Amino acid sequence: MHNLKQKVERARAAFATGRTRPLEFRIRQLKALQKMLTEHGKEIAAAVQADLNKNEYVAYSYEILGVLGEISLMLEKLPEWTAPQPVKKTLITLPDDVYIHYEPLGVVLIIGAWNYPVALILQPLIGAIAAGNAAVLKPSEVSENTAKILEKFIPQYLDEELFPVVNGGIPETTALLEQRFDHILYTGNSSVGKIILAAAAKHLTPVTLELGGKSPCYIDKDCDIDTACRRITWGKFLNCGQTCIAPDYILCERSIQDQVLQKIKETLKEFYGDDVKKSSDYERIVNKNHYQRVLGLLEGQKIAHGGETDEATRFIAPTVLIDVNPESKIMQEEIFGPLLPIVTIADVDEAIGFINRREKPLALYVFSNNKKFSLRTSGSRIQRLCLLVLSLLGTLAVTVK
Ligand code: NAD
Repeated sequence: MHNLKQKVERARAAFATGRTRPLEFRIRQLKALQKMLTEHGKEIAAAVQADLNKNEYVAYSYEILGVLGEISLMLEKLPEWTAPQPVKKTLITLPDDVYIHYEPLGVVLIIGAWNYPVALILQPLIGAIAAGNAAVLKPSEVSENTAKILEKFIPQYLDEELFPVVNGGIPETTALLEQRFDHILYTGNSSVGKIILAAAAKHLTPVTLELGGKSPCYIDKDCDIDTACRRITWGKFLNCGQTCIAPDYILCERSIQDQVLQKIKETLKEFYGDDVKKSSDYERIVNKNHYQRVLGLLEGQKIAHGGETDEATRFIAPTVLIDVNPESKIMQEEIFGPLLPIVTIADVDEAIGFINRREKPLALYVFSNNKKFSLRTSGSRIQRLCLLVLSLLGTLAVTVK
């Protein structure tokens, strides 16, 4: 723990030298990160595969390509974004030179989650470097192979004093949180989110929390059901359901439930073949605890498809549940696994009421052919959500009132 405190102090001392301030330094660090991913992409993807059984193609596409894309964007835009921004003069500032000049905050703590273990550490890091900060990186201990490989490669490419990697579990994260940071970026579940916020409050440190939620899919009677089901199946079962914005559950009218189920079954066969367990495109649950937690959500449910499990390999087949009771356990917490409940509702008004009564989700997927489709709601929650909805999945047709 003493070593850990030293790493934070060293990062602060390095920041105080002012070497992160010049644009050229930030660009050099971003290019070094790019080089690390280009030279060691295969080894990094292999570590992700060892943690989550993501095949090399999936690991590379979902973890590394996005990060490389973000670095390219940053390299292109940074000169413009860091330049002083002109400000209109007022009577009081008439004799002055006035402009907005962005200052780095200082030392940032980045705490990552295990489900996209590379991207969830490196994406916040790109922002931190670009803005001229030092950053202490804490990868998730749950994805331990990836944590080790990040600890090995990052110091070989980035400034070691400014960007230390700290590996470890709850004791190490707790000890880190006792230190003072200038910003904390946390990705993970909301129970730990509360711990992070409370620790940050002691130092009045601003925090960015990237949490989870139950993201609903509404399938309208009047839509291209084949396309809707294909997209939902992809988004739900990718990474074995362990994606923060994965569709959590489906809301549809009872009259189309069988058709929806049938289309999902057909798509699953197309994606993963007759034996999903043998498919190299299907991942596994990350560890035994999460395996048991997901199985617990199946209790009392009507399994319409799937349901096969294997504890030794933490395999849970893509599983569809029908006629799900909205009060059942599976509808009370984020599933974060390959179980897809279908809840039937009478009409769109009931769907809106259903969603609004629950905690805010991260995303909302609406499938409808009706271009004038309007989500009527008394509160502003759905309206705000609709702005987030423009997702990868929707044949979206929502007008925000
Ligand atoms: P996790 O178990 O890896 O925990 C996240 C981090 O919190 C880890 O680095 C861990 O060391 C730390 N931690 C755990 N317990 C702690 C404690 N008691 N005190 C201090 N630190 C502690 O990941 P998780 O929470 O299982 O992640 C899954 C959740 O993250 C899901 O809810 C998912 O939706 C969400 N998520 C959100 C996004 C997003 O961008 N919004 C992205 C990915 C995941």
